[in-house]
Amino acid sequence: MRAMSRMLPFALIGLLAAAAGHPAAAQAPYPTKFSPAIAARADVKQALAYLETHFDSQVSEWIMLTEIPGTSGHEQKRADYVKGELVKLGLAPETDTMGNVWARRAGTGGGPTVVFAAHMDTVHPLDTPLKVRREDNGTLHAPGIFDNTASISNQLQTLRAMRDARLETKGDLIFLFTVQEEVGLKGMYHWLEKHPGVTDMLVAVDGGLGAVSYGALGIYWSRMKFSGEGAHTLNSRDQPNTVRAAAQCITNIYTVPLPPADDPVPAIYNVGGMLTGGNVVNAIPQEVTFTVDLRTVDAELIQTLDAAIVSKCEAAAKAQKVTFTREWIQKSEAGGRPEQLTAQRAHPLVQTAIDVLRFLDVPLPAGREAIPTGSTDANAGVVAKIPAISVGRSRGGAGHTLQEWAHIDSAKTGSQQLVLLAVALAEPVAR
Ligand SMILES: [Zn+2]
Repeated sequence: MRAMSRMLPFALIGLLAAAAGHPAAAQAPYPTKFSPAIAARADVKQALAYLETHFDSQVSEWIMLTEIPGTSGHEQKRADYVKGELVKLGLAPETDTMGNVWARRAGTGGGPTVVFAAHMDTVHPLDTPLKVRREDNGTLHAPGIFDNTASISNQLQTLRAMRDARLETKGDLIFLFTVQEEVGLKGMYHWLEKHPGVTDMLVAVDGGLGAVSYGALGIYWSRMKFSGEGAHTLNSRDQPNTVRAAAQCITNIYTVPLPPADDPVPAIYNVGGMLTGGNVVNAIPQEVTFTVDLRTVDAELIQTLDAAIVSKCEAAAKAQKVTFTREWIQKSEAGGRPEQLTAQRAHPLVQTAIDVLRFLDVPLPAGREAIPTGSTDANAGVVAKIPAISVGRSRGGAGHTLQEWAHIDSAKTGSQQLVLLAVALAEPVAR
């Protein structure tokens, strides 16, 4: 909220950029905190030059970190490394009971506090082979190389570049390295809960380099459980039946209507991504479970759909005389429909990030430079009504698979973006 009072001067900067012939600024009246003058400052140029000349060591660190297993809930080794590097930077890292690590880089005063966040966990099980393979086309290949290990080294290198250039900001910068993002943004939700009002803006560094996300896709993951007495096949006629309940429930869930496929605010569910139940042929199982993955940005719709799905399960359980319970696997709330996020879009945080990306010649999808959804640690900020975005870390693909890859040089752009964003958002100190 404090940042809102600063919007007018930024609007002016936006208009000036438009007058200077910046093509996108001409159509977008959104306020920005970035101007090419920031990038032209000697200290900023020195920090950007540091990223250039020290890029090999950033890549080595990125590879080394990728080869440390980081399954959600097992980020300790990565966290220990990060802590050590923050100490070397002269900062005082802090940790919490969940395993998040962060350090504050104090500003000179009078500017907003900005949190940059990179999640340390990956979706890959602990025994996944993580050896990084480098190909001649300038890419790296390994599980976790893209999501999200690049961001960890991006953030550390950004701090090193800023220290080397003695680059000061008015506001404080908090560099946060979170845990358990992939299992429901648990680390970030915890951190925000323990640090209310601490930050004016939140930037999650996650995803491919490109469009800026300022919304939050709601994601509800449930396990639907049907329990009963079970019965031998010979005694199974008309007995309470967990399998029939689950089958009936799954069939009926698919009668729950969704918005049309071309609706600007889609919703989707996937039922039975995981199914369990029974271990012998000749019995009704005592327990049958299946999962539901439900997603939409619409905060009311996600609750309506969830309630409808649960009621289908309750009805099926009743009909088959078995017990139904729903267990949450993860629950990440929705940020709202695009028309409910106009204030979020108008916050200078969003346009500043777009302008930084344009300055760095990062291709942005025309008309979709800023997207009112997202699936990163920034979601927790959006839901908490903190100005929050996510920006990319590098280019790459096949995230969450064994074929994950990343384009090496794009991670340098990722770091340059962070230096420019940090200075623009936390505000440069007059020289
Ligand atoms: Zn990620």
